[in-house]
Amino acid sequence: MKKNLQAIRGMNDILPNEISVWQHVENILREVLLNYGYQEIRTPIVESTELFVRTIGEVTDIVEKEMYTFLDRNGESLTLRPEGTASCVRAGIEHGLLHNQIQRFWYQGAMFRHERPQKGRYRQFHQCGIEVFGLKGPDIDIEILLLAARLWRRLGISNKVTLQINTLGNSACRARYREALVTYFEENLNLLDVDSERRLHTNPLRILDSKNPAMQDLIACAPKLLDFLDEESQAHFSGLRYLLDVAQVAYTINPRLVRGLDYYGLTVFEWVTTELGSQGAICAGGHYDGLVEELGGQATPAIGFAIGLERLVALVSQVSEFENNPDAYLVMLGDEALAAGLVLAENLRNAQPQLKLIMNCNGGNFGQQLKRADKIGARLALIIGEDEVKTKTVTVKYLREDRQQENMSWEKVVNERIKELYLL
Ligand code: ATP
Ligand code: MG
Repeated sequence: MKKNLQAIRGMNDILPNEISVWQHVENILREVLLNYGYQEIRTPIVESTELFVRTIGEVTDIVEKEMYTFLDRNGESLTLRPEGTASCVRAGIEHGLLHNQIQRFWYQGAMFRHERPQKGRYRQFHQCGIEVFGLKGPDIDIEILLLAARLWRRLGISNKVTLQINTLGNSACRARYREALVTYFEENLNLLDVDSERRLHTNPLRILDSKNPAMQDLIACAPKLLDFLDEESQAHFSGLRYLLDVAQVAYTINPRLVRGLDYYGLTVFEWVTTELGSQGAICAGGHYDGLVEELGGQATPAIGFAIGLERLVALVSQVSEFENNPDAYLVMLGDEALAAGLVLAENLRNAQPQLKLIMNCNGGNFGQQLKRADKIGARLALIIGEDEVKTKTVTVKYLREDRQQENMSWEKVVNERIKELYLL
């Protein structure tokens, strides 16, 4: 027997019965991003491998072991994008959008990482992110944090997420800190796990992000970057803290917060939740002031974040219920009823553009048609039989309410009854 084909492990179908919450989240995202003057940018899903190696960093989880990389038919190495920032920067430089300009971009789409699939961690997942170019902050830092906070409010999850911030300092203090960190871990070499040992000389900051429980004590006692900040980095960080207080955004400082990508500096942050098990980060970001130059553009300060939409959707689903049932189902009995029904349906759609109306297709007797209406959760059945055709009326049957069915003229159902549905 032939084996049925299935989706790739870690890559999910989002089925019609799950789509309402996704669309709700996407609509609110779009609205809020528009409120703050962000413009959407769409970049290809596939980019040259080099783009990600150069931006994310060779010694990061993503580049070392998570990218979907392949040779195309011309022998060029291509990669399915694992994140959105690199592509945005590439596009911005390529089209001359960044030099001496201020840009506020947002994007949304599928990302690909070959991770171990588990709840909240997939191989194809979706991110919505923003990237701002040409602003040093910390005013822009507070802007994007307020934007995120507004999103959580609009989605009804404010009380389920908390903000953690840290600073990675500018590159000068990061270099000094890195030395101190390497010295500390070298002194404790026997306590390092294999991954961390490998990172010791390539990406020591990333050791702080280790999720291995056995490493936690060692990490807790490691030197803190906050003690290595120079004046400039200090001022940026205290500036942000002041603005967070002014805007009354609650936060905690997490000195161990580093990002898994090499391009970050100064402010980094994560919005986290405890409601989703171990995959608790729903939004993560920070400054990446060196990246534009690194990719061949003029030095341009930049900041951004990315939201993991699967995690956000899971959280929103906990607080709200979404349904996408049709408002009405048009039952038509016989050819004449079909002819009258077609016209009525179009008139109803004209009168109420938001109306979700399903027209019975493929015939069937009264009982069968009504069953279909009930099965898809329609609120009303609009029934046209032989009598209704003669009297130019429709029988309105309320499928979800304890309410007498009514017979009314086609005009009345178009001009009054259907509009009434949207006033409730
Ligand atoms: P994590 O520490 O959870 O692996 P990360 O630091 O790799 O996250 P980023 O690259 O900063 O994550 O991505 C931003 C957001 O995208 C994360 O906070 C998370 O919500 C989401 N995300 C990242 N990887 C995945 C994945 N494999 N599946 C689902 N969501 C993801
Ligand atoms: Mg990761």
